[in-house]
Amino acid sequence: MLIGSDDLGDLSGECEYCGTDLRYTYAIIHPSWGAMVVGTDCCDNLTGTMLASEHHEKYLKKMERRKRFVSSKRWKRIRSGGEWLIQEGLSVFILPSANKFLIRMGSVEGAARYDSAIDAKLKAFDFIESGEATAFFIKRGERERRRSDQQSKRGKSADDFAKLIEQAGLSVPQRLPTAIRRK
Ligand SMILES: [Zn+2]
Repeated sequence: MLIGSDDLGDLSGECEYCGTDLRYTYAIIHPSWGAMVVGTDCCDNLTGTMLASEHHEKYLKKMERRKRFVSSKRWKRIRSGGEWLIQEGLSVFILPSANKFLIRMGSVEGAARYDSAIDAKLKAFDFIESGEATAFFIKRGERERRRSDQQSKRGKSADDFAKLIEQAGLSVPQRLPTAIRRK
């Protein structure tokens, strides 16, 4: 059974099954061998699945896309400093900020500061690629919709209140509460 995978960044690992030097490792639990850390091929063989090799292929493709994203020709220079592009429908800005860099997506500025524009771009890529960005903006959109719903409800009750005053034959006071004046 495959329980996890890791990219060590270099060949610092070793397959506990065949002794090969590894960069990409998989933690498995084998019914007769117990828990062990193995390479892609041994993981496939020992689990009798293609999980490790499929995961590995997907992982390498993602790393390739990540590299392409950072050096993409789609990045456009901003005259006041920084760069921007549109990725999956989101406008992504990498902006200089006090010798560091920050990410802005749409109108939302991230709180984190990065040492280089490349670090910021990698972070932006991961944020979008993982689906976190989409989830964030969906949630934010819902929050804003709820807020404007509440506002329109408030507006309606203010209208009703003004109507009641009129019906009662009273003059509408000069200084109305904010919610009513907004009408
Ligand atoms: Zn091995």
